[in-house]
Amino acid sequence: MTSIIYPTTNFKATEQFFIERGEGVYVFDNKGNKYIEGLAGLWCTSLGYGNRELIDTASEQMSKLAYTHMFGGKTHQVAIDLAEKLTAMLPVEDAKVFFGNSGSDANDTQMKLIHYYFDAIGMPEKRKIIARERSYHGVTIASASLTGLSVNQIGFDLPIDALGVLRTDAPHYYRGAQIGETESDFVSRIVNNLEQLILKEGPDTIAAFIAEPITGASGVIVPPDGYYQKVEDVLNKYNIFFWADEVINGFGRTGQDFGSNTMGIKPDMMTLAKQLSSAYVPISASVIRGDLYEAMVEQSAKMGVFGHGYTYSGHPVACAVALKTLEIYERDNIFERAAQVGEYFQNRLRELEQHPLVGEVRGKGLLAAVELVANKTSRQAFEGGGIGAFAQQACQNNGLIVRAVAGSSIAFCPPLIITKRQIDEMIGKFSKSLNEILDFIV
Ligand code: PLP
Repeated sequence: MTSIIYPTTNFKATEQFFIERGEGVYVFDNKGNKYIEGLAGLWCTSLGYGNRELIDTASEQMSKLAYTHMFGGKTHQVAIDLAEKLTAMLPVEDAKVFFGNSGSDANDTQMKLIHYYFDAIGMPEKRKIIARERSYHGVTIASASLTGLSVNQIGFDLPIDALGVLRTDAPHYYRGAQIGETESDFVSRIVNNLEQLILKEGPDTIAAFIAEPITGASGVIVPPDGYYQKVEDVLNKYNIFFWADEVINGFGRTGQDFGSNTMGIKPDMMTLAKQLSSAYVPISASVIRGDLYEAMVEQSAKMGVFGHGYTYSGHPVACAVALKTLEIYERDNIFERAAQVGEYFQNRLRELEQHPLVGEVRGKGLLAAVELVANKTSRQAFEGGGIGAFAQQACQNNGLIVRAVAGSSIAFCPPLIITKRQIDEMIGKFSKSLNEILDFIV
């Protein structure tokens, strides 16, 4: 019996897959079997495994200064350098950054910043957040309340009502459209639903709208053209912030530097983690517009302190590794390379649209999902929702690690350093697995 309480695991199915080491885009299990890491760990190991520069950077920083904190005015150079480099890259005006440890705690921080800001400007009732159905924003009490997946809420007494999280439609045309509805009618209908929700609740009570530009763990939903422009028009009309959760999308994943740029969004707030350090060490960033920060300065002085901070906020080793990661992205043109390979990947994956099990292929850049269906014409899903896990296992048996998401979709998110030849290898293993599943079920 295990001594570990495993995260996001069926407790009856622990310790089945023992990963021992990694090299480039490959990992090896404890029996020496080799796998292509088609999900970059959990959507995060952008520079792959065994990157010598990141390893040396961590080691050198540990030798120089393994730890110092940032409470009460303490600072250190590597956090300052990281913040400057990072904020200069971001599509957020005069960006300011708060460092944390994970995507979940960074989203919690954003909620607190929202409350603090609207208190500071004398609008304490403007605090509700609109999140979408089928969204993933983390698992802490607050971030799981934003998440729109029942598996992260049922059994945990979530969402917390006091947080005032409101729900609006997922922008998934393939599953959400009504019979005969065009993409543009679908967009108009769901954005109208959003506006009606705002009017019903009262615009003065709503602070922000949170969205992953392209979703990850909730099924890799790429909204139809025009969706975000219409959403932004509505948000601007009622002075509601656009909060982009770029925990997966950020840093070259979707064909551009940030998902907000890929999808034409101008965010007021942005959450970053995962590829910020290529996952070599935990670090996250809650980013807000500069004028929001300016408005909180007096408030913090009045209260004596901005009463929020983690022991590991701005951890020097995490900052050093993140800074080196950003330098490598820039020096080696990683985002441009990933965009080119990503286009090749999307084309190769779309060849599978003809396969009898494939309902929809969706994605951008090096992020994608393939939805498996029982009937292509009617889009009927497989009963019981076990097909995704079954396919995930079939892929694993063929040396490919992918992840079942939203029950019946298989997600791909390989390291950004993957080559076209390795994409071919990945697609080959996936096609073989699909054919084996087809043989098994017919
Ligand atoms: N937001 C998004 C979009 C994510 O995909 C995730 C994790 O997958 C999180 C937040 C939570 O991040 P973490 O698992 O680091 O807490």
